[in-house]
Amino acid sequence: MSSQAPSAQKYVLCCAGCGKKLSPATDRCPDCSDALLRTNYATKVFSPTDRRDVFRYLDWLPPEGSLETTVGPVVYRSEALATRLDLSRLYVGFNGYAPEIGARNPTGSFKDFEALPTLLRFREQGKEAIILASAGNTARAFAYAATILGFTACLVVPEAMLHKLWLPRKTSDAVRLVVLERSADYAEAIRLASLLSERFGIPAEGGARNVARRDGMGTVVLEHVRVTGHLPNHYVQAVGSGTGAIAAWEASMRLIASGAYAAALPKLHLVQNAPFTPIHDAWTTGRPIRPDEDVSGQLDRIRAIDADVLANRNPPFTVAGGVRDALRATDGCTYAVTNAEIASAQELFADAEKLPISPEAGAAVAALRQAALAGRIRRDESVLLNVTGNNDALLRRDYELHPVTPWLRIPPGEVSRRGIGRWADRFERQGTQPGWQD
Ligand SMILES: *Cc1c(COP(=O)(O)O)cnc(C)c1O
Repeated sequence: MSSQAPSAQKYVLCCAGCGKKLSPATDRCPDCSDALLRTNYATKVFSPTDRRDVFRYLDWLPPEGSLETTVGPVVYRSEALATRLDLSRLYVGFNGYAPEIGARNPTGSFKDFEALPTLLRFREQGKEAIILASAGNTARAFAYAATILGFTACLVVPEAMLHKLWLPRKTSDAVRLVVLERSADYAEAIRLASLLSERFGIPAEGGARNVARRDGMGTVVLEHVRVTGHLPNHYVQAVGSGTGAIAAWEASMRLIASGAYAAALPKLHLVQNAPFTPIHDAWTTGRPIRPDEDVSGQLDRIRAIDADVLANRNPPFTVAGGVRDALRATDGCTYAVTNAEIASAQELFADAEKLPISPEAGAAVAALRQAALAGRIRRDESVLLNVTGNNDALLRRDYELHPVTPWLRIPPGEVSRRGIGRWADRFERQGTQPGWQD
């Protein structure tokens, strides 16, 4: 692990609601409790180093230190898919695992960009444990990063996503996988994680509020600019929480503020999998997202989608600096695509680019196809297609995949302050160092 001399002021946080500058140790603006905070780095010039991993952008990532890793974005110019879609400047951000094109993200999705910067930042802040909820891919990325760093990570996952919890290496004891039994609901896992965090004093990872996570995801846009020399006109991504979309917007603003790039923000094209499309519905109808309305209907729709990583009932849509602001600022638009459209887009991509992609990335390709056909994206405009992940096909070819074994199983009836009380002995902690004891 390398670490630079700590600079007291690598960055400050800035409230997206009121613009107030806050110390890096803050979680929330004292005046706008819901608003997202953003990093404001001392270094304004875009100057990637010649490293090949995500830490080539360390100037614009929260941690001071870094480590040798294969994690990082890959952007290449598409020929075959571009031809099929009649686009002349299509760039693919391939953020999974495909060593044939230099992509070596160990858990196969862009969640790998979030996990290392987050854990390094927590450690630099004196925290040695973290808790987070996940629909699968985030837990996998954090399990890997926690294993590499020997950092205690408590990962709360609905049982229906358990099959996604594998790693291309053995998991260390630092990983504490908590399974919410008989559940497919990410929102309920979030609730359980927040109860456990509060009751047992385990620092929460923060989700969309976590700046290390957002700045890690934003490196896809930085990589595009490093490779092409300009910001894309369009950015296409499948969203569940929309954190990656907010991150793409923020990275673009940072590049524009550097003074070296044209002032037009990339237009966000955000896609969800019908019939579960809360962000698309809220954006196109103007009605607010109601995570607690008709929950059983929502769960039925969640069970019906193939891109299940996108199943977030409570995305940061209306908060200052959230998804709605990102769509407004970029004159963005949203899409709803069916399982059949996703499957056909996955096939199209695999056939054209010779690489398998996940259903979520398939959703992005399906939206790109619609946008190109409808003339929303014109032939000569530049596009960054975020292939956010490609699941396990190529990892399975190259590695033995090890399942992460559950550390604790919690029945659905116990997701309450009282219910979790009976697990107190398991979470008995000794301050925050080194996490808590078994
Ligand atoms: C998390 C994830 C998404 C959605 O990302 P958000 O921007 O957080 O909504 C899309 N695709 C894959 C493969 C993911 O893992």
